[in-house]
Amino acid sequence: MDQRITRHLAQMINRGSDAVERQYRWQPLIGSTLFPEDDSLGEETRFSPVKGLVHKFGNRVLWKVSYRCVAHCQFCTRSRQIGSPQGDLSADDIRRALDYITATPQIDEVILSGGDPFATPRVTANLLHSLFDIRSVKVIRLGTRVPLQAPQSLSSPPMRTLLSTIRHAACHRPIFILVNAQHPDELTPQVHCALHKLRQTGASMLSQTVFLRGVNDDVDVLADLFRSLYYLGVIPYYIYRCDYVRGLERFVCPIEREQRIMTELRRRLSGIAVPTYVVDVPGRGKIPVPLAFWDGTDLSHCRDFDDQVVAL
Ligand SMILES: *Cc1c(COP(=O)(O)O)cnc(C)c1O
Ligand code: SF4
Repeated sequence: MDQRITRHLAQMINRGSDAVERQYRWQPLIGSTLFPEDDSLGEETRFSPVKGLVHKFGNRVLWKVSYRCVAHCQFCTRSRQIGSPQGDLSADDIRRALDYITATPQIDEVILSGGDPFATPRVTANLLHSLFDIRSVKVIRLGTRVPLQAPQSLSSPPMRTLLSTIRHAACHRPIFILVNAQHPDELTPQVHCALHKLRQTGASMLSQTVFLRGVNDDVDVLADLFRSLYYLGVIPYYIYRCDYVRGLERFVCPIEREQRIMTELRRRLSGIAVPTYVVDVPGRGKIPVPLAFWDGTDLSHCRDFDDQVVAL
């Protein structure tokens, strides 16, 4: 993946944020790579019935609106595709995807993803309008990083149209906006303002985070991040173990360290502010990693928040 950084992110890097620089600064691969497979999650092949759709789980489908993003995160699972125009959907692709969703009524939730659906606000607004007409679709999710990468762009005319489409949609059915945040440095005053704008649409706000070595594999950093998101009305939904995709080796943390951090966060933070810690097992789904309150499969006792053993 090449390097692409917005003016907003460049300002943060210039002001000395290592956490932002490590997420976005391009680095050459050194020596041999540990993870050979590119499409390790099988998105392109087994689970894609129609271009753009990934239908892995019965009731919900992921719709990749494009491979365009306003900035390129070096740890992205789809790093080999991001920025490529090959993910753009033609009118026919969109029609086929809508037909598939309409003809598959067990799909009650559509997750607009990419790339970033907010990188192409006009396309996304049109997709939302088409989805409103499908009665079996009860919930719509949108995953985006634009509010953290180019927060001022939310005031542009096409973005305002998208936000008003979301506002209209949120009157009729649940709309969830998932922002991707890794580090408290990212939550600048402009980002606060952008998140507030999104919240005003009536959409529910959630976040997702990826564990990144040298960026956020630290209990104080993540406590600060999740608490700050919670204060902004954003509920931390998932924290992922970094995917085993080629080129991401430098970001992967030891799983035991991640487990210790998440266990400590469960003690420190309000329950609502603690995301579910998952690993996206290739082809299987997002499997929760157990926290260290239980000993293996023995459910007769657990450890409490003071690390004391308690019989149940
Ligand atoms: C992550 C994902 C979903 C959504 O999973 P949830 O656990 O409901 O958040 C749906 N489809 C695909 C292909 C996914 O990768
Ligand atoms: S915004 Fe999302 S899809 Fe785009 S590069 Fe970053 S993580 Fe990947």
